[in-house]
This record gives sequence, C-alpha cells and structure tokens, in this order.
Amino acid sequence: MWTIMKERVSALYPEMVRWRRHLHQYPELSYREDSTSSFVADKLKEFGIEAKTGIGGYGVTALIHSGQPGPTVALRADMDALPIQDDKSCSYASKVPGVMHACGHDGHTAALLGAAKVLVETKERWKGSVKLIFQPAEEVAPGGAKAMIEDGVLDGVDEIFGVHLWTPLSAGIVATRSGPFMASVDDFDLEIRGRGGHGGLPHETVDSLIVAAHLAVNLQTVVSRSLNPIRPGVVTLATLQAGSNSYNVIPDRAVLKGTVRTFDADSRKLARERVETIIRDTCSMFGAEYTLTYKVGYPPVVNTPAETERVLAAAAAVLGPDAVQEAEMTMPAEDFSHYLERIPGCFLFVGAGGEGASYPHHHPLFDLKEEAMAQAALVLLSAAMSRTIDLPKIEQEQE
Ligand code: MN
Repeated sequence: MWTIMKERVSALYPEMVRWRRHLHQYPELSYREDSTSSFVADKLKEFGIEAKTGIGGYGVTALIHSGQPGPTVALRADMDALPIQDDKSCSYASKVPGVMHACGHDGHTAALLGAAKVLVETKERWKGSVKLIFQPAEEVAPGGAKAMIEDGVLDGVDEIFGVHLWTPLSAGIVATRSGPFMASVDDFDLEIRGRGGHGGLPHETVDSLIVAAHLAVNLQTVVSRSLNPIRPGVVTLATLQAGSNSYNVIPDRAVLKGTVRTFDADSRKLARERVETIIRDTCSMFGAEYTLTYKVGYPPVVNTPAETERVLAAAAAVLGPDAVQEAEMTMPAEDFSHYLERIPGCFLFVGAGGEGASYPHHHPLFDLKEEAMAQAALVLLSAAMSRTIDLPKIEQEQE
C-alpha cells in the first residue's frame, strides 16, 4: 500500500510543481483568495471530488469517503500570500506587484491537492474518510481557521493534521514535537497622553517620554519576574516614539507597540494581566492618561501526544527513520492552533531548505525546495491513514 502511495506521489510530482508555480505567479493576500480558491475547487472537480467553496471566507472543503467505515481525518493547507515584493528572477516569480507567496502556502496547497488526488485513486485501499481543508487567511488575525471552524468545518472530524514547508530545515527532514510547538502571539498598541510643555519648565508638564521610558523597563519584568521560568515567553517592545526632534519641547504624547508570546494558556493570561497592570500603574504614577489596544492573536500550537507519536511513526515508516526529528519549540505562530484547541491532531514542519532555498520565510527572495512538496504530500497521506493501516505492515513493506 505505502509503496503504491509513494509511486503515485512521484508520478504526480511534476503536476504538483505546475500547480505550485501557477499559484506562485498569482498570489493573493489574506481574505482575498478568490482565484486561488477557484483554482483549488476546479482541480478537485477534475479529480472527481465534490468541493464546497465559501467556507469561512474563501475556504474550500471536501470529504473523500473510502467506502469503508473508519475515522474522519482532516488535512489542512493554507492558501494566502504576503504583502511583499517578489525579488526573485525566475520563470515563476510573482506577477502581482507587492504580493508574494513568501511563506510557502502555495506549496501547502499543491501538496494537499496532490494528496487528494492520490486518495481518490487509491480509495479501495484505505478506510474511513478524509476531510480536505483549504484555508484562507492564515497570515492575518483573526485568521481563516477560526472562521472555517465557525462554519462547521470540524463537525464530524475525529483528528486533524497539517504541515508547514520550512526552509530553516533541510529538505528531506520532517520535524515536530508533542505538546507545545509554536507560540501564541498577541500584539498591543499603546498611546500615552501627558501634558506637553517647555523643556525648561518640567514642573508644568506630564512628560509622556519619561512614562514611556519607565514602561520600556517595567514591561521587562513580565517575563523575568512574573512568568514561571520553565515556561518560555517573550515581551518585546518594537516601537517607542515620543518627541519631534527638538531640544526643548516635552512631548505631549508617546506611542508604543509590542508583542507578547507564550506557549500555554496560563502564561498567556498572566502575561496579559501583567502588561495591562504595569501600563495602568506606571501611567497613573506619573499622572498620564493612556489608551491600550490589546490585540488577541493566535493561541499556541499544542500537538496531542498520541496523534504526534502516530504520525511520526508513520512518517518514519514511509520516509525512513532518518527523515524524522523531534523539533524544538519555536516562537512564530500559526492559526492551526484553533483546530487543535478543539480536536486532537498534530502540526508538522517539512524541511524545504537547501541550495536555492536558503532565505527565511517572509523574505523577498524566499523560495523552497519543490521536492519537499512530495514529502509533504506523503506526510499528509501517512497521517490520514495512520489510524487504519498498521505500522508493522508498513515496515514489512519497506523491507
Ligand atoms: Mn506560514
């Protein structure tokens, strides 16, 4: 069975490259994936799969029944691109000015399309059902996952798997970890309003710059003094603006922006409480007023142990034991976390780095090793079948 699966994926690989390169040339921003979703729905139709469009925005879903009873496993790919100018000079560079698939979501979409085609072709050989989830708007909160869940995408689904092609990891390697894997991300905007005045007459002012300076220091204690040191977290102030290039004007107003990242719900809640309290009390200490906008982003990606173990074992059986690694926790975020808050499953990195693919994600020269898409398709297929096809059988077939 797994040999057949691998042969089908290899046979489909040139087509997956064509799909990916098409999407790469016509990238669409989050919440605007109109033609991408039509492209996906048309391909599914070509494979004989009936797709539903307009789920949680431009989301596309489909259910493939094997015809035999068994679990329903969801496989998810995201489809959106980024507001970045593509600086590559290759035949498939973006044709849309200022928009680029700089995170590999084009590859995720092509890989899941490939997996879908193989699932249809091998229907009589596996059990249960597979739900395909082509998700829009991963890059911008509130994100497409939440909207698709609200539209019922997880109804009747037992478990879910998703992959991210990842250039920091060499092509050929698959990595994930049980438990917390990717961070939660919440951002905040803060405006401090004091009372401006003459630099020589500070007693007549409320100096917004001094309040901002105290906050830059005080906020550092959220991680160093309030969070449990064995639970990682980050509070970063990325913007601090006050004053207008003068020597003698005390500024009326200061603006700060920052990000808060953690790996568990308790730390996340505590970090927010401490950020809010420190801002409130520091401003009050100096008599300044403020407006804080705390933008709740994605929760942490927390993989469930049983599903993680199972998919890693299946991936090792299909790709070889050397291809599988345990990943470290990583601070970027993913809205795949919303699915994992509701049902068991696992999110994995599929290495896509190497020669010609050495730039980080979200870089104007980002590209990926396209053969990683074949591996991604195999990982998704092994995840989908890992519950109904015994692993010893896979290993025997490998020998
Ligand atoms: Mn991404």
